[in-house]
Amino acid sequence: MNSAESVRQEQGNNRVETGITREQRAAELTLEASKRWPENTLAVVLLQALCRLTVARPDATEGFTSIDLCEEVDRQARRSWLADDPSKTVRIYWKKLTKLWEQKLEGLRQRSSDAALDGFPDLDRQEGGGTGNPTRYRLIVRPFPDQSTADSGAPSPVNQEAADIVYICEDLSNPALLARLFHKGLVFHGWRRAAVLTLVAAAMLFSVLLVILLLLTVQFSELRAILVMAAAIAVILWAIWASLGPIVRLPDNRVVIAPWWMQSVHDDRLLVWWKDAPNAPRMIKAARYTAGCPRCGGAVAAKSGRIEFWGRIVGRCEEAPEEHVYTFDHITRKGIRLR
Ligand SMILES: [Zn+2]
Repeated sequence: MNSAESVRQEQGNNRVETGITREQRAAELTLEASKRWPENTLAVVLLQALCRLTVARPDATEGFTSIDLCEEVDRQARRSWLADDPSKTVRIYWKKLTKLWEQKLEGLRQRSSDAALDGFPDLDRQEGGGTGNPTRYRLIVRPFPDQSTADSGAPSPVNQEAADIVYICEDLSNPALLARLFHKGLVFHGWRRAAVLTLVAAAMLFSVLLVILLLLTVQFSELRAILVMAAAIAVILWAIWASLGPIVRLPDNRVVIAPWWMQSVHDDRLLVWWKDAPNAPRMIKAARYTAGCPRCGGAVAAKSGRIEFWGRIVGRCEEAPEEHVYTFDHITRKGIRLR
């Protein structure tokens, strides 16, 4: 209750000169960001309703009831949540929203920092009890824990340099399969790194031995069989490298395109050698970076540089992926025009 009280007290003192509270600004920022998320779920619809209510009713500092939220959802998204059980419906989608929020929070922090807000938006739920005291939901503004680390550790002088586009880390999550293999937040050094490297080496050795064995069983004089075997070796080695290579390269490259089995349809998922705070251990995180294209307004996503920009990750505009191309730097989050 104490922290809730102090947030409530702070809210009274946070009207800026324009007459807009910082909660309103944070809600507007969250609303705009949510329109670009690929998730088009009812949890996002609920969030957008909360943002609209926060913008429309700045004096409701105690938050909104599930009936308020359902009314807003019904009005904006043409649904009929009020006709069902409002408190149950909101509780279900709020739970889904808090899960999605973990993924989106880093992006919202970066947006808030870029927009010079003095904090970042966060979700808050106050459990009600008894009649006349319903559960309330609201969007609050939390102060950045430390200004220097609020921006994924990028020091401010670096961020002063000129840029054509600024990227936002739209999604940040623990990659599901890796997380299951190595528990939450894989710390990738020492024996763990050795284990992965050994695994890759063993897989390659195994495939080579397999092919040698097969070669020994066929007639050496038959050129066609040898060619088929050689092709088989190449395919197996390529498949192993395509599946595990990015993870092996990650500690050296710090950011890589995620292997095919971790990709969504857009091939824009990256693996980042992530560090939350200066002294925190590094962890593998799955991330997606996007920006707005200054030339056409399309969405730029960090993707493979392919042959022209070999070994690099570049920002490609979805409207003109071969022409609207920018550099990508995950530390400064800035990009300059390449073409
Ligand atoms: Zn473009």
